[in-house]
Amino acid sequence: MRGRIASGVARAFATWTIDLDPDVPEFRVRMTCDVCNEHSEVYSDDQAGVGLWVQLHTARTMHTRFTEAVTRQWVMTPTGAIGQHLIDTPQEAAR
Ligand SMILES: [Zn+2]
Repeated sequence: MRGRIASGVARAFATWTIDLDPDVPEFRVRMTCDVCNEHSEVYSDDQAGVGLWVQLHTARTMHTRFTEAVTRQWVMTPTGAIGQHLIDTPQEAAR
């Protein structure tokens, strides 16, 4: 019976976990000036770089208000085989 179950249905019933993506930096930060909208480059795991950009921007423009944007990437991972619960409980799969 499990061969007749559409793969999309089986995926919908899989158990998934969500975690931070281990293949990218834990977070990335970009600072934007609230006055002129100029923004820093994106820094990864480098708060000193963000602070230096703000100090240099203020020294050059006298702008003193900023917005920080922090980005973290997440990844969904199936736990166990996709659709495994359908194999474990064949009476449910037959419905
Ligand atoms: Zn500015």
